[in-house]
Amino acid sequence: VRSPREESLIYLDFQASTPIDTSVADTMCEWIRSHSGNPHSSEHAFGWAARDAVENARASVAILVDSLPDDIIFTSGATEANNLAIFGAAERAAPGRDTILVSAIEHASILEPVRKLSRRGFNVVELPVDAEGRLHAWAFEQAMSERVLLVSVAAVNNEVGTLQDIQSIGARCQSVGALFHTDAAQALTGCALPLGALPIDFASLSSHKAHGPAGIGALYVAPNRVDRLAPQVLGGAQQLGLRSGTLPTALCIGFGRACELLTAGGATERLRVASLRDRFWQMLQSAIPGAALNGPTTLASRHPGNLNVAFPDVDARDLIQRIQPELAYSTGSACHSGSEEPSHVLTALGLDEQRARSSLRLSLGRQTTVEEVERATQLLSQAALRTVGSNYALP
Ligand code: PMP
Repeated sequence: VRSPREESLIYLDFQASTPIDTSVADTMCEWIRSHSGNPHSSEHAFGWAARDAVENARASVAILVDSLPDDIIFTSGATEANNLAIFGAAERAAPGRDTILVSAIEHASILEPVRKLSRRGFNVVELPVDAEGRLHAWAFEQAMSERVLLVSVAAVNNEVGTLQDIQSIGARCQSVGALFHTDAAQALTGCALPLGALPIDFASLSSHKAHGPAGIGALYVAPNRVDRLAPQVLGGAQQLGLRSGTLPTALCIGFGRACELLTAGGATERLRVASLRDRFWQMLQSAIPGAALNGPTTLASRHPGNLNVAFPDVDARDLIQRIQPELAYSTGSACHSGSEEPSHVLTALGLDEQRARSSLRLSLGRQTTVEEVERATQLLSQAALRTVGSNYALP
C-alpha cells in the first residue's frame, strides 16, 4: 500500500480527519497484541484489565474537557453522539416542549435527525447565521420561548471554522429551561473546551478529528442530565444504560491517549498552527490575485487550522482534480462527499452559487510544516493559472 506521507504528498484536510498520532497508534497496537477480554466481563482478570483500560481512557477524555468520567459516554463517533442527543432528548420531551432550534450551518448528522423529527411533528427551526457564520442573535432571540426543548449549535464549524459563542447561547437556553447541545467534533483541536464549566447539557466529540482512531467518539452528558436522554441503542445496558454495546477497548485507549496529548500540548499547538495558517493565507493572497476568505474575516475567530477561500473564476472541483495526488484538501465539506450541490454552509453565509463553487477548504494541523504550505501555495497558484488561463502571478 502506498502511503501518501512517504511519497511526500501534502495533506491539508485535517478537518476531514487528522492523521493518527504515532504514540496513539503504538499504545493501541501494544494493547491489541497483548490483551483480550471484554471490558464488561466482570468475573475475571481479562475483563478487569480491559475495563481498567477503558475507564482510564474515559478519564483522559474527561480531563481534556474539564468534566468527570461519568459524564463521558463513548459512541462510535460524533455522528452517533449527535443522533443520541437529538433523538434521545426528543423522546423524553416534556409536554409543551415541542420546538428544536439548530443553526443552518450544522453538520448533516444534526440536520438530518432534526428534519426527521420535524416530519414527526416537532417544530424545527433552522436559524440563520451572519456572513461570518455566527448564529444570528436577533433570529435566535425571536425563536426562544418556553416551548423550546433543545438548541443545537456547533462549537466550531467544520467548513469555515467559525468559533461560536457557546457560553452565551448556553446561558440563554438555561434561562428558558431549554437543553443545549453543541456538536464539538471540531473543537478538540479548535479551542479550549471546558465543558464542565460551561452552560452545556450535551456535547459530541470525535476521536479522528483529534489525532485518535476513527470509529470512536463520545457524548458528554452534564451531571443530572442522563434522565433527559432516552437511549437509542438498546441491549446490554452498558454505560449507564445510555448506550449499549461492548466497548472497543483499543479504540477507547487510542481516543484516551489522543486526549492526553491534547491536554498536554493542545494550547501550544493551536498557537503554532494558527500562525502557520496566517502565513499561508498571506502567501496565497500574494500568489493568487483576488483570493478571498469565506467566513470570519478575523483569523482569530476561526479554527486555528482552517482556511476557506474562493479563487476567482476557478472551478474548485476542476482545480482539485488537476492537483491530485500532490495536495489533499477539500471542496466544500468532505463530510458530504459526492454531493453536486453547493455547500449549504457557504450558501447560508450569503455567498452565491458561483462563489461557493470556486471555494475550497484548506485545513492545517499538527503535522503541517512551513515547507508544505509554501509548496501548497505554488501548486495551487499553478493549477489556478492552468484552470482559468488568466493573469495569476506565479510565486
Ligand atoms: N460534526 C462535525 C462538525 C463534523 O465535522 C463531523 C465529521 N465530518 C461530524 C460531526 C461527524 O463525526 P464522525 O466522523 O466522528 O461521525
